[in-house]
Amino acid sequence: MYVYMGHMKFKHTQPYENWFWDKNDITLKKGFVKKIDASQKTLIFSDGEQLTFDKLIIATGSKPNKFGWPGQDLKGVVSLYHKQDLDAIETHAPNNTVCKRAVIVGGGLIGIELAEMFHSRHIPVTFLVRENSYWSGILPSGESEMINNEIRKNGIDLRLASNLKQINSNADGTVKSIVITETGEEIECNVVGLTAGVSPNIGFLENSSIETNRGILVDRNLQTNIKDIYAIGDCAEQRTAVEGRRPIEAVWYTGRIMGETVAQTICKKETLYAPGHWFNSAKFFDIEYQTYGWVNSEQHMKPNEAHFHWMHPDQTKCLTLAFNKTSQAFLGINTFGIRMRHEIFNRWLDQKKPIDYVLEHLEIAHFDPEFCKTYYHQVIEKYNTENNRNLQLKKKSWTQIFSLKS
Ligand SMILES: Cc1cc2nc3c(=O)[nH]c(=O)nc-3n(C[C@H](O)[C@H](O)[C@H](O)COP(=O)(O)OP(=O)(O)OC[C@H]3O[C@@H](n4cnc5c(N)ncnc54)[C@H](O)[C@@H]3O)c2cc1C
Repeated sequence: MYVYMGHMKFKHTQPYENWFWDKNDITLKKGFVKKIDASQKTLIFSDGEQLTFDKLIIATGSKPNKFGWPGQDLKGVVSLYHKQDLDAIETHAPNNTVCKRAVIVGGGLIGIELAEMFHSRHIPVTFLVRENSYWSGILPSGESEMINNEIRKNGIDLRLASNLKQINSNADGTVKSIVITETGEEIECNVVGLTAGVSPNIGFLENSSIETNRGILVDRNLQTNIKDIYAIGDCAEQRTAVEGRRPIEAVWYTGRIMGETVAQTICKKETLYAPGHWFNSAKFFDIEYQTYGWVNSEQHMKPNEAHFHWMHPDQTKCLTLAFNKTSQAFLGINTFGIRMRHEIFNRWLDQKKPIDYVLEHLEIAHFDPEFCKTYYHQVIEKYNTENNRNLQLKKKSWTQIFSLKS
């Protein structure tokens, strides 16, 4: 995203400097694994080369979903996953002369990033979102509505409750237009971005003896059905999901924890995968988003889950706290336009702190000291009015922050 937008160079996306691998005695092999012969403990590459292993860790990530739409493989249909996608986007959408309009299909975190990318080069964007409001399967309605407004404020032609029917072609095999299922409307465009979610990238395991479902099935120590073969990251599916979690979680921090876990295990310190409390973060144009614990959208709320929602009058900052109606235990928080301290929410979630405690101590959890002077009083005032309470905001002190961390 930021390479296309000119904020960084491609080389800045390398995880390590080039000297790192040799120095750490890691052989970096460039190649595409076509097949795994588990019984012979051998990898077979697309060029026929072979490599044997004692232990194998599969970490092949995700691939973008395509749902068999007519025209989905035309020139100018792009996704946003690999370097090759970045190259294709650069080719088909270098500017708004070559690309007069881009249509994005799929209203999730990757779709909105692609919209911001095209927008940065002044390419008009139509954004098709299947749901009635942006990311409404995940976000509570107040937040989802706020992001709808943010998308529109940036000049994006947001089409809610709209599915892609087909992509039409010019005579030379490039994209001509798309058609919306619900209305039959045809929209002329040069580029179509497919961002309707991702699936585990495991096609190369077909006909292997490694057991798969949607992803590669692993137990809690991340081993597949075959001894010495493990799977981690986006391609791994927990045979039995960790309590309260999904069996596949395509986010970087769970992948990192899985990497650390499997490293312990293959170094003979058998370790079970423990993902900790859920968290995620993203950016919706200018609005930063963070979530800690669980704050479910209305359609997925648990029977005992209650929410307290506050929004700043300028509608670019808000937060929602979820708590258990019966026990009053804090369950999670979503913040927009406000940065919080991860370690403090982890701790409060561990300790099942009451919602009142969390509200009174929000200032301590806050990352940016400027904010709390202005807004947390308003947050607590709204909570007090709605719940007939008299909570008082506790003053922030660094001693408290460090003792909460320890
Ligand atoms: C645009 C975008 C934005 C994202 N933003 C966020 C975010 O804000 N927060 C977040 O938590 N997550 C985000 N994610 C998800 C996050 O990037 C993934 O969860 C994470 O990269 C998964 O790591 P992984 O190691 O499992 O797979 P990947 O990082 O996908 O790595 C897989 C590697 O395997 C290689 N490979 C695949 N098949 C083969 C084969 N047959 N032979 C050889 N090599 C192969 C691939 O080339 C690739 O190098 C985002 C993803 C995208 C696409």
